[in-house]
Amino acid sequence: MQQVFNFSAGPAMLPHEVLEQAQKELLNWNGLGTSVMEISHRGKPFIEVAEQAEQDLRDLLGVPANYSVLFMHGGGRGQFSTVPLNISKAGDLSEHLVTGQWSISAEKEAQKFTKTNIVASTETDENGLVYVPEQKDWEINPNAAYFQYCPNETVEGIEIDWVPQTGGVPLVADMSSNILSKQINVEDYGILYAGAQKNIGPSGLTLVIINNDLLGKARPDAPSIFNYELQANADSMVNTPPTFSWYLAGLVFKWLKGKGGIAAIEAQNKQKADLLYNFIDQSDFYANKVAVPNRSKMNVTFSLAHAKVLDPIFLQESNSAGLAALKGHRAVGGMRASIYNAMPIEGVKALIEFMKEFERTKG
Ligand SMILES: *Cc1c(COP(=O)(O)O)cnc(C)c1O
Repeated sequence: MQQVFNFSAGPAMLPHEVLEQAQKELLNWNGLGTSVMEISHRGKPFIEVAEQAEQDLRDLLGVPANYSVLFMHGGGRGQFSTVPLNISKAGDLSEHLVTGQWSISAEKEAQKFTKTNIVASTETDENGLVYVPEQKDWEINPNAAYFQYCPNETVEGIEIDWVPQTGGVPLVADMSSNILSKQINVEDYGILYAGAQKNIGPSGLTLVIINNDLLGKARPDAPSIFNYELQANADSMVNTPPTFSWYLAGLVFKWLKGKGGIAAIEAQNKQKADLLYNFIDQSDFYANKVAVPNRSKMNVTFSLAHAKVLDPIFLQESNSAGLAALKGHRAVGGMRASIYNAMPIEGVKALIEFMKEFERTKG
């Protein structure tokens, strides 16, 4: 089998070692003679998996004791309505920083439950580069029920490396595509959440980390499985959780610990992103349209010269060379290389070699 580096934005590549371990123990997990998918979520063997995964995640991110970790359903997008159902009342205001497709989707969904306001949106500078306005240029209404933003916009490849200061307004962060990629201070956030399929594990699982002060405020009509307090009290087992995804996320957390934790993976992520952006910057053939301070370390978007003719050829030839899923999101076009934690630096180097050769022969 040819080695493939998978640059998919999500579901994205998982660490090879993790998949090998899951394969090895698939048919006979823990000596039980069944797979981990086929046992009760309420039995002791699975409870141990669930608790260990939570503990490893708490260790990795330094989650304080007054925060709950929830393993939920519904994906990142499910949280766009789960958040207002849990921490706002009808007629309340939610504030939004809009920096791309995901934060605008969150704002649209919140319109069903709250009044919404967009405090600021991305702008374009004199060189045609997209940037996120600094907080000194906008304001948050202190009476808002919450402030929502997306620190890494997966579609456009825009990352915000500072934390908005919200005063007493709960800060809600959609970290679906950059959770576990770098060190964070959990206490800066009221709620942070992430669909699993980018940097945690298989799809079907949604991770929520919430300050316990925000529990107990759900609307009476909030569905039970999307009620944070009920889930916290039930150890995320109001109903059957996505057990296989939870187990696999646990293997990924162990893998991250073995790599040296978040500080080590953060250094490697920086190295990978720098290599790729530096290569794009020195080329007249490839271009990235995001201002340097807002360039994503997870999703690197780029365009080709003569895109109309060359994009399909680039995609076909890169795919044949074992560099999969480089097509940009349909909303923005061009190319996107998603280089989450599981992408080894060899994959980034192979992509750069391919891009060099493509430019030399077609550019
Ligand atoms: C992928 C993604 C989502 C949506 O995740 P689903 O699990 O498909 O609902 C939301 N926000 C961001 C930033 C994403 O990258």
